[in-house]
Amino acid sequence: MNKLTLDDIKALEARHVVTTYKRQPVAFVRGSGCRLYDVDGREYLDLISGIGVASLGHAHPGLAAAIADQASTLLHTSNLYYHPLQGHVAARLTKLSGLARAFFANSGTEAVEGCLKFARRYWYTQGITTRTNFVALENAFGGRTMGALSVTWDEHYRLPFQPLVGQVTFVRPGDVAGLEAAVNATTAAIIAEPIQGEGGIRPLTKEFAQAITNTCRRTGTLYISDEVQTGLGRTGYPFYFPVLGLEPDLVSVGKALGSGVPVGAMLMSERVANAISPGDHGTTYGGNLLACRAALFFLEQLMDHGLLDHVKAVGPLFERRLRALALKHPVIVETRGVGLMQGLQLAVDATPIVDAARQRGLLVNRTNEKVVRMLPPLTIEAADIDRAVDILDEVFAAVGAEVHA
Ligand code: PLP
Repeated sequence: MNKLTLDDIKALEARHVVTTYKRQPVAFVRGSGCRLYDVDGREYLDLISGIGVASLGHAHPGLAAAIADQASTLLHTSNLYYHPLQGHVAARLTKLSGLARAFFANSGTEAVEGCLKFARRYWYTQGITTRTNFVALENAFGGRTMGALSVTWDEHYRLPFQPLVGQVTFVRPGDVAGLEAAVNATTAAIIAEPIQGEGGIRPLTKEFAQAITNTCRRTGTLYISDEVQTGLGRTGYPFYFPVLGLEPDLVSVGKALGSGVPVGAMLMSERVANAISPGDHGTTYGGNLLACRAALFFLEQLMDHGLLDHVKAVGPLFERRLRALALKHPVIVETRGVGLMQGLQLAVDATPIVDAARQRGLLVNRTNEKVVRMLPPLTIEAADIDRAVDILDEVFAAVGAEVHA
């Protein structure tokens, strides 16, 4: 087959692929570490890593070898049978999180969806059929399936698909009185990301986290910590809920777990797990051998081979450099984030900055309209952080002044 050009690729998709994304005009064919290469061989420094997924960078030789070995041994048998890897991955996830048990899914969305189901099942098992509603936060993102979409704030995503699942009350993060008023005798669970990702890299305050914990203790309501973006080392912590003093009954994970191989999981306390019976939930692919092998490889890197310590070391450098950048360019209103999960709140739409960065060989992402988001591979080295911030400096100097005017 002749090598396809970007135009060929675009034309083929335009004929056959449903347009749900406004893609950026670039097609990647190869990666290595924090670098991506497009169809024309042009190199990019990747500070978004497939939206926080390529946690070990691209084409990690150890991960590639593990996947290849698994592919030539056994890929999939379904959850009808045991296989040797699921228990190991679950043991590592429960050790990292302090929660008792894991259920495997294929994505973050499915993990969120499963957490919502299990929260309802928890109350149903107690014989309480009235606690079916959820409290979520403004600016939250949980995914695009009907349940996960129901706890997603952005109306553009939600309105065309109503009616959604049950009643969801959205509370503004920080509004303690609003939270207390929203939780009542019909609430199954509160769901919240400890740092809102798609919503613009917005950490919850410790005070508001405390209010969630207090409200859950007072009313018995379950708390679901959506750690699909924050979890598994991105912040320099295994999970972000303990940092804020949150006490989840359920935790959703995804993204970084497979480092590019689709896998998600929901982690839960023993009391929630005890409410679940065989047949309550299922998945054909979830936790198959390929997914578990990739997850195991990633977790070994994180826990045994210094990856978490690496994030702890480079995260503060990244934060410092971004704060200095913000001081230099008035169009940056605020920097937010922890470790390798960072956002620049701009005074203007972030699109021209993202485009100009890409044209200079740097990939960052726009979220919540005015936020430049960065979720680099967890393996990123200090030199690449410096390079990335230098490029952003150039971009803000060239474009920032223009867009601010
Ligand atoms: N939850 C959070 C906090 C997320 O950031 C995302 C994706 O961005 C999801 C859930 C959904 O995950 P996925 O799109 O991988 O299914």
